[in-house]
Amino acid sequence: MKIMVSACLLGRKCKYSGGDNYDERLIEALRGHEVVPVCPEVAGGLSVPRAPCEIVDGVVRNDRGENVDEAFRKGAERCLKMAVEEEIDLAVLQPRSPSCGVGRVYDGTFSGRLTEGSGVFAALLEANGFRAVTPEDFVSMAEK
Ligand code: SF4
Repeated sequence: MKIMVSACLLGRKCKYSGGDNYDERLIEALRGHEVVPVCPEVAGGLSVPRAPCEIVDGVVRNDRGENVDEAFRKGAERCLKMAVEEEIDLAVLQPRSPSCGVGRVYDGTFSGRLTEGSGVFAALLEANGFRAVTPEDFVSMAEK
């Protein structure tokens, strides 16, 4: 399969903090698949490091309250275009992120609490007919 993967899960230091979300079990499970790494926030022109962001009432804001929605949506559009051009079969995305979160994201209070919903990029992928899953889901699928 051709699989689009959040670049931070592969060890790229593109997180807001300047770190990564390296996931060894995921990397093992991806063996034999073609991997297309993406970071929608960097693709949207955001810097590393950057202020943490959450979705607040449908708009992405950083922890200083500044509206960064446009950069998030631009990055998501660019990565969607890549998904279409690359004809990916699946996306495996970093949980909880305001871009990449699938099904659950931080709730907009910057307190670590989660709420139902997807990040901007995950939601855009799904709205365009792509399937997005968490690393945990993908590892379980690969073990079956
Ligand atoms: S936007 Fe996605 S790929 Fe980029 S650092 Fe955040 S979770 Fe990782």
